[in-house]
Amino acid sequence: MHHYPAEPYKIKVVEPIAVTTREQRVQYLAEAGNNTFLLRSDQCYIDLLTDSGTTAMSDYQWAGMMMGDEAYAGSRNFIHLQETVRKYYGFRHIIPTHQGRGAENLLSRICIKPGDYVPGNMYFTTTRAHQELNGATFVDIIIDEAHDSQIDLPFKGNVDIQKLQRLIDEVGAERIPYVCVAVTVNLAGGQPVSMENLREVKKLCSAHGIKVMFDATRCVENTYFIKEREAAYHDRSIADILLEMMGYADGCTMSGKKDCLVNIGGFLCMNDDDLYQRAAELVVLFEGMPSYGGLAGRDMEAMARGIEESVDYHYIHHRISQCRYLADALAAAGIPIVRPVGGHAVFLDARAFLDHLPQDEFPAQTLAAQLYLESGVRSMERGIVSAGRDARTGDHHRPKLELVRLTIPRRVYTYAHLDVVAQACIDLYQRRHEIKGMKMVYEPKLLRFFTSRFESLD
Ligand SMILES: *Cc1c(COP(=O)(O)O)cnc(C)c1O
Repeated sequence: MHHYPAEPYKIKVVEPIAVTTREQRVQYLAEAGNNTFLLRSDQCYIDLLTDSGTTAMSDYQWAGMMMGDEAYAGSRNFIHLQETVRKYYGFRHIIPTHQGRGAENLLSRICIKPGDYVPGNMYFTTTRAHQELNGATFVDIIIDEAHDSQIDLPFKGNVDIQKLQRLIDEVGAERIPYVCVAVTVNLAGGQPVSMENLREVKKLCSAHGIKVMFDATRCVENTYFIKEREAAYHDRSIADILLEMMGYADGCTMSGKKDCLVNIGGFLCMNDDDLYQRAAELVVLFEGMPSYGGLAGRDMEAMARGIEESVDYHYIHHRISQCRYLADALAAAGIPIVRPVGGHAVFLDARAFLDHLPQDEFPAQTLAAQLYLESGVRSMERGIVSAGRDARTGDHHRPKLELVRLTIPRRVYTYAHLDVVAQACIDLYQRRHEIKGMKMVYEPKLLRFFTSRFESLD
C-alpha cells in the first residue's frame, strides 16, 4: 500500500465548478467539433486539459501581486525575478517573455540558420514549430525506450549519447547550433533525465563547441526524480539538485506557467554575453523591453515568488504523489497507461485502450472526446493530431505513442477529484468496444491540435 501525503496546504479561497448533464455534454462536444481544446472551461467538471497556467497561486504570491511596480523600465519586480533566477537556476542573464514559446521564438531566431539541425530528446509542439520556422530540422535523440509506453525505466527521458554522436559525425558540429534537452520530457509522459546523462550530454557538446539549452519548463519535477532515483542525490535538497542540474546547460527556455507556479509568464536564460545582447535586441520587437518582456510587474513578482515555493520538497512530493494516486487507481482496474508515471500527468495508452481503431481514425482524440461525454472530465490528445504533418511529404507524422493526457494542475484538485476521474475511465474501459473512431473535418496548417475539428464515424 502506497502512502500518499495529504495536501501540504489548506484552502483559503474556493472556486465552484460546473456540474453538467450528459445531454448538455453531447451538445457542448458537438459545438466544439469533438476537440476538447474548443470546449469552454465552464462546460468542464474536472479540467485536466493541461497544467499550463492552471496553477493555484499561494497567498504569498497574491500578496506579491499587490506589490507590482508597473514601471516601463527597471521594475523592482524584474530585479527580484533576476535575483531569484540567478539564485535557483544559476544563469547570468534572464529575459522575461510572455510565456515559454516567446522564449523559444527568441532562442530559435538568434541561434538557428536555415539548414541547421536541432537535436532534442523528443519533440515538443511549440518548440519544434519555432525551430522549423527558422529553417532547422529537428532530430530526435531520445533513447528508443521512450517511444515504448510499457518499458519501465527510471530515466526514460535520457538522451541517447550515441544518436547525438552519430548526428555530429553526419552533419558536422557547425550545423548544430545547440542541443535542446527537455527536463522532464512532456510528450514521453513526463519522463525525467538523469544527472549522469545531463553530465554526459554537456561533456560531448563541450568537446564539439555545441551549446546545450534546456527546455526547463518542468525542471523541478525532474529534480524530484533525480533525488528519488539517483543514489548520490537522495540526501540533497531540491534547490541544491536544481542548481547542479542547470549547471550542465548554457541557458534555457522556461514556461513559468508550469514549474514557476504562475498563470502567465516565462523567460529565456543564458550565460553567454553576446547571445544575451542579441536576445535583448530581439525581445523589444516581439515582447517588450528586456526588463519586462510582455509581463506586468506583478506577474514577474508572482513568478519570482513561485520559483521560491517550487523548490519546497513537500510541494513537489505531493504533486508527484497525486499523479501516482491516479495512476495506481487506473492500473488496478487494468487500464493501459504509460509506464512509469511521470511528473505532471497520467497518460492513457489510447492505442491499447481502443485497440480496434487504426491510428488514422484518431484513437486518442476519440478517447478524449468520449471521456468528456462520460464524465465532464476534460483531457488532451497527444498522438497523431498533436504530431502534425511532415513539412516535406505532407503526410501525417505517425508517432508510436498515441496518448490521452490527464494533466494534474498544481495545487488545484484533491484526491477525491482524482477518484472521479479514475471511475470515469473505468466505466469507459468497460464499454470500449462500442466506441467508433473519428475523421478530421477541419485542419489548420500549424499546431493543428489546438483548433482542428472532428466528426464521429458512428
Ligand atoms: C508548455 C510547454 C512549453 C511551451 O510553453 P508555453 O508557456 O505554453 O508557451 C514548452 N515546452 C514544454 C515541455 C512545455 O510543457
